[in-house]
Amino acid sequence: VGNDPASETYVGHKVRACKVAGFESTLLRYDANITEADLLKRIGVLAQSESVDGILVQLPLPAHINENRVLEAIPFEKDVDGFHPTNAGLVMQGRPHLVAATPAGIMELLRHYNVETAGKHAVVVGRSNIVGTPVSVLLSRNAAPGNCTVTLCHSRTPHLSNFTRQADILVVAAGKPHLVGASDVKPGAVVIDVGIHRMEDASRKQGFRLVGDVKFDEVAPLASAITPVPGGVGPMTIAALLQNTYKAYQTRQSLHNDSK
Ligand code: NAD
Repeated sequence: VGNDPASETYVGHKVRACKVAGFESTLLRYDANITEADLLKRIGVLAQSESVDGILVQLPLPAHINENRVLEAIPFEKDVDGFHPTNAGLVMQGRPHLVAATPAGIMELLRHYNVETAGKHAVVVGRSNIVGTPVSVLLSRNAAPGNCTVTLCHSRTPHLSNFTRQADILVVAAGKPHLVGASDVKPGAVVIDVGIHRMEDASRKQGFRLVGDVKFDEVAPLASAITPVPGGVGPMTIAALLQNTYKAYQTRQSLHNDSK
């Protein structure tokens, strides 16, 4: 909805990823002044459609549209972003179905690189519903990769550095460019940088470069592992979206077969 430049980029990546994976995707664009009722009606059609396995509404939405109402209009079985309260609640209870894509991508990174998480201290900076809160829950659950002792920091945390310096695993999702530097990180920590920002850079053709919430150049030499921006959590989020879509498809197929 509308034409937010960052959203355009993300949507472009998602459409391309579907093509590469062999998924059929349809991009529906609406004008920024579409009414909420109209948008809900259109989502309702997709919700009912037998040929649609996954629905994703690119955020942010224009201010006159209630984001929660829109996200809740997507049936949780088709909620491949994992934002529906049912999917969020299942994560809380340790019975994940469609896990929010960015946290799911982060957990897959930890799994893939065999990062030891059990008994470690994980510090998460940021408490949003789509990243910080679910990733802190997943890291604390009794399932691999998890079993961490988790500290969740946010905008009201005083002396953030006192917490981040204790982290064996540091996940930064504050949405603040270069918030975390070398003096905020314990040597040997695993650092996951979720932030993504455009920073003016006249030497680049586009006039900007992408940076994260972590000062990569400073932190990389002392971390045991670190995700770059771009090229770290972003592509993992897209991979998790595709995985969720495939799972949604499989679940719907098995329900369909059971009802035959
Ligand atoms: P948000 O703005 O919803 O939440 C930010 C959180 O950080 C808040 O909970 C706030 O309390 C906390 N915070 C803000 N300033 C802080 C500070 N100085 N110290 C400690 N905590 C602070 O953001 P979000 O949607 O969770 O996204 C966070 C970042 O991750 C953004 O840069 C966003 O663009 C990026 N993001 C990237 C991906 C990806 O796929 N790479 C996906 C989602 C979000």
